[in-house]
Amino acid sequence: KESSTRENNVAKIRVVVRKRPLNKKELAKKEDDIVTVYDNAYLTVHEPKLKVDLTAYVEKHEFCFDAVLDEHVTNDEVYRVTVEPIIPTIFERTKATCFAYGQTGSGKTYTMQPLPLRAAEDLVRILHQPVYRNQKFKLWLSYFEIYGGKLFDLLSDRKKLCMREDGRQQVCIVGLQEFEVSDVQVVKEFIERGNAARSTGTTGANEESSRSHAILQLAVKRHSEVKENKRNTDTNEAKSGKIVGKISFIDLAGSERGADTTDNDRQTRIEGAEINKSLLALKECIRALDNDQIHIPFRGSKLTEVLRDSFVGNSKTVMISCISPNAGSCEHTINTLRYADRVK
Ligand code: ADP
Ligand code: MG
Repeated sequence: KESSTRENNVAKIRVVVRKRPLNKKELAKKEDDIVTVYDNAYLTVHEPKLKVDLTAYVEKHEFCFDAVLDEHVTNDEVYRVTVEPIIPTIFERTKATCFAYGQTGSGKTYTMQPLPLRAAEDLVRILHQPVYRNQKFKLWLSYFEIYGGKLFDLLSDRKKLCMREDGRQQVCIVGLQEFEVSDVQVVKEFIERGNAARSTGTTGANEESSRSHAILQLAVKRHSEVKENKRNTDTNEAKSGKIVGKISFIDLAGSERGADTTDNDRQTRIEGAEINKSLLALKECIRALDNDQIHIPFRGSKLTEVLRDSFVGNSKTVMISCISPNAGSCEHTINTLRYADRVK
């Protein structure tokens, strides 16, 4: 069968690393670029170290991933390597997830922002193809945030949401607004609206949004006629049809925030612990998925619980690990690469 071959051609789990260029500040400080990428799949981190007698030396750390993208790679190419191959499988009942992982400032948001737009473009084009035209497929978008273990709808004034699970491993986020999107301009507007609603707190945008996970979902649904006589339930399915497949784009909290567990501020500590828990749980779930384990440890965190239905059945996962090239970020960079290495 052509469709299943196509589906199987895309690995179930892929780990891609993206290195950003040195920024102005780092260039001004004449910081070294300590990350070398080669053959699109390997990289070396040159860690500056000192011996006890204070002579400097470099410790090399080598890594290999499904793909390694250097600082010259454009967002378009990132899309082609990560998300594009998955798109056709969405119409074959696949639930896909694309994560951006890494320390604050490493390029997660820069990397993730254009992806849903490109994906929506391709999904819309495919659902208008003759093979699908009669199937009443529609594309739906939702955008929410997990902050301090709580869910907020980014497309309806940060309304607080809660989660419900039915007996069929379906996760329902009660009250989450979903919008039908039929053209890309509308998708763009929703994304901008959602971005503006992300946690900004009082200390500035990047600071606070780095403590939250932002989740944008595009779902292909088969439209069902509204049944007049049936008592109307408030489930998304009743309103908008049955899910065929979906893809979730997740801009994760800054990985270094998980270490905020010793901060003097109580709230920061609580958030740090929550982030730590979710990033650990995510790693465990992806590993379990990779080993075809029957039991996937979803319950480890809110993040993994929300993603539960994307970790069963036909699932595809792409992790994009973002790294900074400067010497000052060395420790975080190595931590990010080790995390990615364990997911792989
Ligand atoms: P994060 O979301 O991980 O905290 P950002 O995506 O906000 O990081 O990136 C931090 C800064 O670096 C931003 O100003 C962004 O525009 C810039 N940047 C990130 N990645 C790249 C890249 N590949 N090319 C050029 N600029 C980048
Ligand atoms: Mg960000």
